[in-house]
Amino acid sequence: MKFKLDTAELFVPDGLPAEPALARTTHMAFGAHQDDLEIMAYSGILECFQREDKWFTGVVVTNGSGSPRDDVYKDYSDDEMRIVRRKEQKKAAVVGEYAAQVLLDYTSGAIKDGANKDPVADMAMLLNAARPDIVYTHNPADKHDTHVGVTVKLLEALRGLPADARPKKLYGCEVWRDLDWMIDEDKTAFDCSGHENLQAALLGVFDSQIAGGKRYDLATMGRRKAHATYHASHGTDATTGLTFAMDLTPLIVDPSKDLNAFVQEHIGRFANEVSGRIAKLIS
Ligand SMILES: [Zn+2]
Repeated sequence: MKFKLDTAELFVPDGLPAEPALARTTHMAFGAHQDDLEIMAYSGILECFQREDKWFTGVVVTNGSGSPRDDVYKDYSDDEMRIVRRKEQKKAAVVGEYAAQVLLDYTSGAIKDGANKDPVADMAMLLNAARPDIVYTHNPADKHDTHVGVTVKLLEALRGLPADARPKKLYGCEVWRDLDWMIDEDKTAFDCSGHENLQAALLGVFDSQIAGGKRYDLATMGRRKAHATYHASHGTDATTGLTFAMDLTPLIVDPSKDLNAFVQEHIGRFANEVSGRIAKLIS
């Protein structure tokens, strides 16, 4: 595996060589930062946990060096933060029994630069080696530039693959902005009820972020529980945790489909639902 950056790394928790480690992948997630995968793609991690026939591979695209810091980390330089966050991501890969964890080590600036095609090349190489059935990434209506930048680059990489090498499903998941706003027919709901202890462990290893003053661990579990209860107004709760995703598969089935127009269609259906209800209730 030769990545564009010499500082990129592929970590295999069970010590298998890179090629067979990646080749066993069935579920794969591409996230901007260390901890994004555990926040947005837990259902994929859970589906592969303790399975011989299903394997989760995580790809973190940026180096995380610019993150806020406090507590025991408050005097850390950007480079020291980068090392801490890399270590934390590897801990998550061990806890979650990932097939492999890739750290591409790009700056946020590189991901926000539409002309920089190096991340696209790395992603394409990984997808070719892993050939996943299901791919998770950030949803394109996320409010973090670097997150949406990852989605844009991943989409380019996926569209460059031969049609028979593309995954069966591509999901845009929740981190910065949830997807509760989408109409129910547009939502893919993933059951995240299982192994709450594992969820807590996967979110909890990112101590540098949580000690930095952001309780992502509590907020993420809270969002999952809120979705489980508020998803359907009738009947009792069917799950104790849900995450929502935007099904992005049409964008890889038809590579000419415009990403922006695709998202606007979702927003349009939301707008119509809201205005339709109000119109119905005003006499
Ligand atoms: Zn992030």
